[in-house]
Amino acid sequence: MLVDFMKVMKGIPVRRTRIVATIGPASDSDEVIKNLVTAGVDVFRLSFAHGDIPSSIARLRRIRQLAPAQAIMVDIPGPKIRAGSFGTDALTLSVGATIELIEGFGGTSTKDQIVVERENVLSQLKVGDKIHIGDGGVSLDVTTTGKSIRAIVTSGGSVMGKPGLSMPSSILNDRLPTPEDRDRLEALRSEEFEILAVSFVRSAFDMVSTRTVLSRDDVLMMAKIETSEGVDNLDEIIAVSDAIMVARGDLGVRMPIEEVPHLQKEIVRHGIRYARPVVVATQMLESMTHAQVPTRAEVTDVANAVLDGASAVMLSGETAIGDDPVGTVITMDRIVQRAEQSFDYAKWGSGLGVQQSSDGTQATRITAAITGAAWRAAMEEKAVAIVACTRSGMTARAISRFRPPMPIVAITPSEATARQLKSSWGVQDVYISSATDIDDLCEFATTQLKLSGMAKSGDPVVIMAGSTSGGTSITDTVRMVMVP
Ligand code: PEP
Repeated sequence: MLVDFMKVMKGIPVRRTRIVATIGPASDSDEVIKNLVTAGVDVFRLSFAHGDIPSSIARLRRIRQLAPAQAIMVDIPGPKIRAGSFGTDALTLSVGATIELIEGFGGTSTKDQIVVERENVLSQLKVGDKIHIGDGGVSLDVTTTGKSIRAIVTSGGSVMGKPGLSMPSSILNDRLPTPEDRDRLEALRSEEFEILAVSFVRSAFDMVSTRTVLSRDDVLMMAKIETSEGVDNLDEIIAVSDAIMVARGDLGVRMPIEEVPHLQKEIVRHGIRYARPVVVATQMLESMTHAQVPTRAEVTDVANAVLDGASAVMLSGETAIGDDPVGTVITMDRIVQRAEQSFDYAKWGSGLGVQQSSDGTQATRITAAITGAAWRAAMEEKAVAIVACTRSGMTARAISRFRPPMPIVAITPSEATARQLKSSWGVQDVYISSATDIDDLCEFATTQLKLSGMAKSGDPVVIMAGSTSGGTSITDTVRMVMVP
């Protein structure tokens, strides 16, 4: 198994920014998933918002079999309110139309009546409150209140499937995890997946509570930033999360839409300062849901996310319900690879400084100092690779934030860590080794680099290692070695 796994992990394309693809009806077949792997997907995202728990778990297991070297991200919906299904054909909601909203489960929504799959929310709405459908294209204004309500369409468009309904934040009073998410977390506790994306995180407490319920230290906890409270509490949320997502869909309906590009830059910058992988998500190649070619604006958006320093870019509807999920990933791969040619690696690293985060712990300061030294040594000596020997993946993530121009190679004893590193920028190859002695690790690393053709005799390589003390991971060793 180990040998097979190593074969799969090798030959990763040189693209450094990762691609996340959401699986849905358009991509759920074995053939499409295998083709998505070939096209370059690093992380498969499975939304647990749709369908029952047993069928979501069955899908997770099937994708694990089909994509043994990719990471799987499970996305739990939190207090997201959904509409009963509008069906598979797009329905148009026209400006000025009046629509009734009723509460219920399993019902069908039409252009005259929307079923709201949540109890006790409609009676909290006031006249004039806004309801956004999906990622905000369609908006309604509440005109009458009560147990069922009426609303007028103020921004029209098409709807299909079971879109999310965004209501005023005051209605999302639930603490995380919600009772439904608790059931999902219980069912996920013994499943093999690498990342848990937590929706509607508003405080550090939300993340800590969700982590406690899942009770897994081998799963990266990713906070989706998509509410104004999430933005306000960004620092405290990042401090207790392992990764971050700029969830632009909900963010763009809960914050003024013109704030989204600036929030994206701020969240990416903050995440990287703390050495957390940051995913930029939603509507990146939206028009490719049905068109063969993206708009120029979308191409520019993906390229700008790369230049902002995002660790990963994400496809949602494009791969979940789109006409050509594989073609969309191939297009995204091309855009990302081109943008990376214009990325200013030297400027990024020097602009970052050594400070990693403001939590001020000794472990954080040591990791920041050692990885800063490793980055400087690698740049000055033009090292051919930076090797991170890592159990939890932390050392690789800590050097990844410098966005070095040379490949980052990780050596880990853990297959789960190897897969998790699929969400980290620039981790090009991952080798599995249980060696712990630093001399053995150096020998193993240089041999592998030579075998892979990445280094030849005499080339300088920077090697870092971490240790765990009292449950805290620290990167505490750096060496510069010449390949023998
Ligand atoms: C988003 O809102 O941008 C997002 C990624 O979350 P979801 O797809 O669950 O709505």
